[in-house]
Amino acid sequence: MNHIGAPVDFWSAIWRGWRGQCPRCGEGSLFCSYLKMQSNCPSCGLTLEPFRADDAPAYFTIFAVGHVVVPLVLAFERFGQEPPLWLHALLWLPLSVVMALLLLPRIKGAVIALLWTQSLSTPKPSTGGPSALS
Ligand SMILES: [Zn+2]
Repeated sequence: MNHIGAPVDFWSAIWRGWRGQCPRCGEGSLFCSYLKMQSNCPSCGLTLEPFRADDAPAYFTIFAVGHVVVPLVLAFERFGQEPPLWLHALLWLPLSVVMALLLLPRIKGAVIALLWTQSLSTPKPSTGGPSALS
């Protein structure tokens, strides 16, 4: 158990985020569903709303999946004596989808933890009212 006021080192916070846990206490869950963030940590009360990962998790997930799948496709094509396209689709589409689904929440948690360690919070988005234009 971590004391709430105790400092958390960078890699511990990233690892906690990767596991979907609060980067500060490591006990509460970051997510209330697959990718939906909790507004506050249920364990320590850390406000999680200002730490918005936006598109970064999707970008990093595509980057990681692509760097695994594309070399496998090329190696399979090179050493597989020109296998048919349906075999490529049968192998690489499910692999890509499974990898993306497994990595996306982990990468999102790590990005949120990174934002928390660097105190990179964003203000709440405006509601689009008249004051938003001025
Ligand atoms: Zn917490």
